[in-house]
Amino acid sequence: MSNTVNLIPPPFKVGNIEVQQVVEMQSPLFAANEFLPTADKETLESLRPQFEPWAICPATGKLVLAIQTYILRTTRHTILVDTCVGCDKVSGIAPWHMRNDRRWLQRLASVGVSVDSVDYVFCTHLHGDHIGWNTQLIDGRYVPTFPKARYVFSKKEIEWQADITDENRKTAYQQSVVPVIEAGQAQIVESDFALDDEVWLVPTPGHTPGHVAVHVKSAGVEAVLVGDVIHSPIQCAHPQWVAMPDSDPAMAAKTRRSVLENCLAENHLVLTSHFPLPSVGRVTAAGSDFGFTFQT
Ligand SMILES: [Zn+2]
Repeated sequence: MSNTVNLIPPPFKVGNIEVQQVVEMQSPLFAANEFLPTADKETLESLRPQFEPWAICPATGKLVLAIQTYILRTTRHTILVDTCVGCDKVSGIAPWHMRNDRRWLQRLASVGVSVDSVDYVFCTHLHGDHIGWNTQLIDGRYVPTFPKARYVFSKKEIEWQADITDENRKTAYQQSVVPVIEAGQAQIVESDFALDDEVWLVPTPGHTPGHVAVHVKSAGVEAVLVGDVIHSPIQCAHPQWVAMPDSDPAMAAKTRRSVLENCLAENHLVLTSHFPLPSVGRVTAAGSDFGFTFQT
């Protein structure tokens, strides 16, 4: 599957802001019935013809998920939103464990983004597939990948780390967030932080307590980077279906519905983290639930 995917899709504009996706990987990752544990089996089966092979792998029944970074070139800044899995990171998820595929960095360079040119790194939340390239292992130490960047983290998300017992998440935090804080490059903000009139955060709790969506607006056009508010286009039709890693399933479902409702009502462009490429599009109405039309 990954052989057929363009991991550097063409850039597009949101008003005067240029958006470039850089994809680390796209592949069948988690069994649909396990990743969406509250989905009833019959409904899930009935959806397969509509979503195979692009969003559900016919051979394995796994959800096809992308892992990617959005580069925003605003009138003032070069901003990365979420930094994928990265390399040399210990992870309980086998395909993410101790990767040594550094091509994500080469892809970034190939679209003109050197590590020195990044002004801000925003993380929608602190799961391992959104913070990995925050740091790199150099001479046995994790150090910030982007030496001149400010890394913007939600305060609520940072505070939540203190309560975490899950070893995987603790390790991800130690490897990919703590070195940034220790280097003095972290900017820990409220969940409604505004960088300027082009880029701001909106609290979207549920997947994690401090999860934020990143809103961008330019020349009257608004787009929303929804992070892990929603993982698969299948959830548009069934927003109540919880994703396995949602820390507060009821709140996650409520947030998912309200974000989809808002994006539909406002006709916002939706930039998803994990939908298969092109990953970007608009929410459509489908009865009391939703659909999704990809941007072409
Ligand atoms: Zn994720």
